[in-house]
Amino acid sequence: MRETGLRIRTIGESVLVNGVRQVEEVKDFHRKILSQMARLMYEVSGIGLAAPQVGLDEALIVVDIGTGLYKLVNPKIVKIEGAQSIEEGCLSVPGIGVKVKRAKKIIIEAQDEFGKNVVIEAEDLLACVFQHEIDHLNGRLIIDYLPSSERNKVIKNL
Ligand code: ZN
Repeated sequence: MRETGLRIRTIGESVLVNGVRQVEEVKDFHRKILSQMARLMYEVSGIGLAAPQVGLDEALIVVDIGTGLYKLVNPKIVKIEGAQSIEEGCLSVPGIGVKVKRAKKIIIEAQDEFGKNVVIEAEDLLACVFQHEIDHLNGRLIIDYLPSSERNKVIKNL
């Protein structure tokens, strides 16, 4: 077992597709989980991680593309602009890369780990990673962007 006690869930586990519930009140438990998620993300050289990927059904994500760590609770995209397609990988779908069309610029409303409301503007890769992680909260994986024949093939080969 990893030092953090959390383990990455991979495709096939229902927690990845079930979606999450909103956090009503940010508690010590959430702060602890967010720290453990960040540690695990760095350990596996990821740039983002969402709670379902560690088996939890609450709206928590961590993101760090090398420009600073974000620990967010209940993140919501409130504005999108433009488009971009980056080939994305996912710790929960090992070995697969999918080019996903996403917004180029976004604005997010969320709470930080102390329950304070925050507004974040992001573009390019950072915007892409936030959208990827928020997808996880909605039970959506990168393979869901593939045409269904290709998606089925990927699932079969995993
Ligand atoms: Zn992912």
